[in-house]
Amino acid sequence: MYNVVIIGSGCAGLTAAIYAARANLKPLVIDGHEPGGQLTLTTMVENFPGFPEGILGPELIENMRKQAQKFGAEFKNGAVSEVNLSRRPFKIVAGKENYETKTLIVAAGASARLLGLPSERHLMGRGVSTCATCDGYFFRGKPIAVVGGGDTAMEEAVFLTRYASKVYLVHRRPEFRASKIMLDRAKANEKVEFITPAVVDDILPHPNGHVSGIRLRNPETKATRELELEGVFVAIGHDPNTAVFRGKLEMDPNGYLISLNGSKTTVPGVFVAGDVQDHRYRQAVTAAGSGCMAAIDAEKFLEEHNEQVLS
Ligand code: NDP
Repeated sequence: MYNVVIIGSGCAGLTAAIYAARANLKPLVIDGHEPGGQLTLTTMVENFPGFPEGILGPELIENMRKQAQKFGAEFKNGAVSEVNLSRRPFKIVAGKENYETKTLIVAAGASARLLGLPSERHLMGRGVSTCATCDGYFFRGKPIAVVGGGDTAMEEAVFLTRYASKVYLVHRRPEFRASKIMLDRAKANEKVEFITPAVVDDILPHPNGHVSGIRLRNPETKATRELELEGVFVAIGHDPNTAVFRGKLEMDPNGYLISLNGSKTTVPGVFVAGDVQDHRYRQAVTAAGSGCMAAIDAEKFLEEHNEQVLS
């Protein structure tokens, strides 16, 4: 039995762990299937306050983990396969273990959808990115591609023209899922060149280990062509990791958990933080901020319900 169980060990989960541990709640963090979350897929993080020289994403996560452990947070591996939130204490199954907890913080994150090419994984953080806000700055004066045909792709393409010398917008169909206003904005930008229909066949490496280009295939004519560029932003959507909460916590039509009034959910004692409830900002610092809010809300909940804190 725990005071607080935190599902997820990205920026939100680890910040919640630091706050809950410093409040002497001895939280348990269940790592999840992608320990460390999306920051482990990045290289340099230059916009997390307090690091004027930048910090490597995996290092930032490792520091947060150490900080949580220092104050007494416990960590277990394993992805959560079942939760029972119908009454307190809540019951959680992860791997072969069963846990009971008085409060629960869901910080299970969202995963960026990927194209599924081996070169994409290999070159992630070396020219391949899933976050324009995070990595756009690294491509000043360089040609890049954005892959996708939804609002995110349009928004990122326009945003990236601030830095890039040229943005190729690559989409697999001639029609777009993006809203007209976002599409028109991207089309009106003279730095953006649309290439459709085009499927990314491969991302090509430079001998220096970074991206040197992409090979595109026209799915109709099967013709291929190569583009020289230095960055590829994969903007084909995100999937929140919420399958296990279906029917148990309120979600929007895309599966993101709905937070009420801070980090609360419709189930008293269950709190949410980070990208699992945020498809708008998706930043390390906003995830950390909401993790802090969830831990404070969990602490207040225990206090208000006169729960005896287990030491
Ligand atoms: P969407 O699901 O809307 O779009 C994903 C795009 O990626 C589609 O064009 C899809 O192509 C393409 N795609 C998916 N899988 C692949 C693949 N394997 N290979 C190549 N292309 C692929 O995701 P978004 O992230 O764009 O948007 C998510 C939600 O967030 C939407 O509701 C959107 O409106 C909203 N949003 C709103 C914004 C705003 O209003 N400012 C900004 C950003 C997002 P296809 O169309 O062929 O399936």
